[in-house]
Amino acid sequence: MDIGILGGGIAGLSVALALSKKGHSPRVYERRVAPATMGAGVTLWPNASFVLEELGLLQDIAAIGGRPPTMRRQDAAGNALGGLDIGLLDRTMGYPTYTVLRRHLQEVLLDHAAQAGIPVAFGRRAVAIELGTNGRAVAHFDSGASICPDLLIGADGRMESVARKFVAGDNAPIYQGFVNWIGVAQASRALVNDVSIQDFWGTGQRFGSVPVRPDLVYWAAAQARPLPNAAPAVNMRNEIEGLFAEWPEPITRLIQATPADAIRLIAVHDLEPLHTWSRANVLLVGDAAHAP
Ligand SMILES: Cc1cc2nc3c(=O)[nH]c(=O)nc-3n(C[C@H](O)[C@H](O)[C@H](O)COP(=O)(O)OP(=O)(O)OC[C@H]3O[C@@H](n4cnc5c(N)ncnc54)[C@H](O)[C@@H]3O)c2cc1C
Repeated sequence: MDIGILGGGIAGLSVALALSKKGHSPRVYERRVAPATMGAGVTLWPNASFVLEELGLLQDIAAIGGRPPTMRRQDAAGNALGGLDIGLLDRTMGYPTYTVLRRHLQEVLLDHAAQAGIPVAFGRRAVAIELGTNGRAVAHFDSGASICPDLLIGADGRMESVARKFVAGDNAPIYQGFVNWIGVAQASRALVNDVSIQDFWGTGQRFGSVPVRPDLVYWAAAQARPLPNAAPAVNMRNEIEGLFAEWPEPITRLIQATPADAIRLIAVHDLEPLHTWSRANVLLVGDAAHAP
């Protein structure tokens, strides 16, 4: 079957690998001109590891990922608020939890796509999908090119999915009232004592730190703010350092060990659940279907 996949993120590449294993010939169309290098990291919980094993990727993830034993939660003054025994979770679920940098996960997915002979075309931004006269969807790209595969999969994320627009009529994400600054701290020495995930909760602010190794830690700082104020400041690192100056370590240490130009601000949006993820021969997967 001729299958076109819009979006070469986690969902698009994973579904391409799964379809290829079933003997299909998917093609991936990604709007970026090159693989993404920004973004911090993701925690791959046991359900993700199960899928990665099925896809034959888990060994590669194990080689680059961290294994957090616990998640510890504290308030802004450092008082314990409980946590999660991740070792117990992993044993119960039968699969390990890994922490990885997003760009490394993307590299593993792209390497396996290349090994499977799956074409991934960069610089291909879909601008619209319409129903052809034969009842099959036609996806149009900004270059003027179009495709009309047997199956069109929309893996084009949660912010402006053209596939979701075609399936659901509306693809407008809803601002959740807070921003996230994300970054990756790296140093020649250990930045944290152990590779546990740490989650700090304050009033209207939050900070999460996720080590891949003691010297390589990705983090997300959050603050509740109205959307008009969600634009990035000129020096985001200074701004975050000020906001979290009184909070427990390793927060300040992590912010300072992050290159200022590698911090990204995300105004966190979500999508309403859909009753159906398909229309004609278009199927939504990943955040385009069910943003977390
Ligand atoms: C701050 C933050 C932290 C998170 N942490 C975790 C975590 O720890 N663990 C976890 O499991 N999940 C986490 N998530 C959620 C997770 O990142 C998403 O669920 C996941 O990235 C969704 O993958 P996706 O491929 O559907 O979408 P995306 O990763 O958004 O990929 C969509 C792709 O489609 C491309 N695209 C978009 N529009 C078009 C177009 N018109 N034409 C062609 N290509 C297009 C984009 O460039 C992109 O490459 C986090 C999310 C956020 C925001």
